[in-house]
Amino acid sequence: MKCEILSVGTELLLGDILNTDAQFLARELAAMGFTMQHQGTVGDNPERLREAVEHALSRSDIIITSGGLGPTADDITKEICAEVMGIPLVLHEESLQRMLDFFSHRKGGMPETNRKQAYLPEGGVVFRNDHGTAPGCAMEKDGKCIICLPGPPRELYPMFNNFVKPYLSEKSGMVIISHNVRTFGIGESLMAETAGELLDMENPTVAPYAKDGEALLRVTARAENKEKAEELIKPVIAEIEKRLGKFIYGIDVSSIQEKVVELLKEKKMKIGLAESCTAGYIAKRITEVPGSSEVFDCGIVSYANRIKEQILGVPHDAIEKNGVVSREVACHMAKGALRVSGADIAVSVTGIAGPDPSEGGKPAGLSYIALADKQHVWCIRFETGRSGDNREYNRYVTASNALNLTRLYLTGKLTAEEAEHDFD
Ligand code: ATP
Ligand code: MG
Repeated sequence: MKCEILSVGTELLLGDILNTDAQFLARELAAMGFTMQHQGTVGDNPERLREAVEHALSRSDIIITSGGLGPTADDITKEICAEVMGIPLVLHEESLQRMLDFFSHRKGGMPETNRKQAYLPEGGVVFRNDHGTAPGCAMEKDGKCIICLPGPPRELYPMFNNFVKPYLSEKSGMVIISHNVRTFGIGESLMAETAGELLDMENPTVAPYAKDGEALLRVTARAENKEKAEELIKPVIAEIEKRLGKFIYGIDVSSIQEKVVELLKEKKMKIGLAESCTAGYIAKRITEVPGSSEVFDCGIVSYANRIKEQILGVPHDAIEKNGVVSREVACHMAKGALRVSGADIAVSVTGIAGPDPSEGGKPAGLSYIALADKQHVWCIRFETGRSGDNREYNRYVTASNALNLTRLYLTGKLTAEEAEHDFD
C-alpha cells in the first residue's frame, strides 16, 4: 500500500521548526512495510492545503497529516481533509467529555474555541489524545484513507504508537512487531558493518539508528500473527547478539540508566557518585528511573578541587602532580565516594566539558571515569572528540560512559587484572 506524509504548518515551511514528525512517521511506516514514495509540507492556507490533499489522494492509498488540529482559526487540517473526502464532521461525545474533564480544573472551564476539536469525521475512527486535547482521526472512502494527527511530537508519537499503528496493522492484514537491540561503546558505522548482510533482509528488516553517542538496531517483522512475527525475529536477534556481544546492553530497554538500576536491584547493591565535570548528570539520570532510591543514596558534586580534597580525600599532591583531570584523581575520587556514601560501588568522573581545553592543554571532551568496589578500582580514559559548542553533549556522553562502565562491572565484564593496581 502506498503511503504519503503531509506535514501542515507555516512554521515548518519557513524553517522555524524542524520536521521531526515526518522523520518519525516515515521511519515507522517504512518499517511497517508501507511503500513511501512522496512526502510533502504545506502552510496553514486552505487553498494550498486542499490542493495538496487532492494531489496526495490521487497517487497514494493512505495519507497521514500532522499538525493543524488545534483550536484556533488557522488549524484547518481535519476540516479540509473531510471536505475533500466529502465526509461531514459530527460531534463525538466521548471526545467532548474528555476535553471537558481535561479543562474542569481550570478557571472558566473549556474555552468555546476548543469545542471544534470534538467534531470528527462521521463513521471514522477516533484516536484518543493522552497528552493534549486534540483527538486524531482516520476517515475512509473509496479505498483511500486519511489519518490526521496533532503536530506536537509529545502528542503525535504516543498516539501513533498506541492507536494508529494497530489500526494500520489491521488494515494491512498483518501484525508488525519491532524489537530494539541497544548498544553502547560501538559507533553506528562499525555496528552497521558488523551487522553486515543482516541490514539487507526484507522480513524481518534490521535498521541501524544512532543518537547521543549510542547506536541501536531495530528488528521489525511482519506476519499474520504475533507469534509468527516473533518467530521470524528470534534467530535474527540471536545472530545480532553473537556478533555484537558485550556492546549490547539490552533489548527494548528505554535507557542505559534503566539497565544499570535494574542490575543494581538484581544484585541488591547501592551505588555512590562523585561527579566533577558532569556535576550531577549521572545522579539525575539514575534518579529518573522509578524505584532508584533502592540503589542510590548519595552523589557528591565535587566541582572545586577543595571539595575533592576535603570531602573525598583526594591527596593534594595527586592533583598537583597529575592535574585534576587524571587517572589518579578519578581513582581517588571514586574511593572517596565509596567511603562517604557507604555504598557497595562508587563511580567518579573528572573531565573537561569545554568549550576550551584545560590550562594544561588537555582537550575538551576528555574525561577519566573510575569505578571502585571494596577491593579494586578501575579507570577508563574517554574522549568525545568534540570541543567548542558541545558542552551539553560532552557532559551527557561522559555520563553515559560512566553508566556503561557500571553496567560492565555489574555484568562481570571488568576483571581484577584490569583494575588499577596502585589504588588497591
Ligand atoms: P496545537 O493544538 O498545539 O495547535 P496542532 O495539531 O494544531 O497543535 P500545530 O499548530 O501545527 O499543531 O503545531 C503545534 C506545535 O507542534 C508547533 O509549534 C511545533 O512545536 C510542533 N510541531 C508541529 N508540527 C511539527 C512537525 N512536523 N515536527 C515537529 N514538531 C511539530
Ligand atoms: Mg495549532
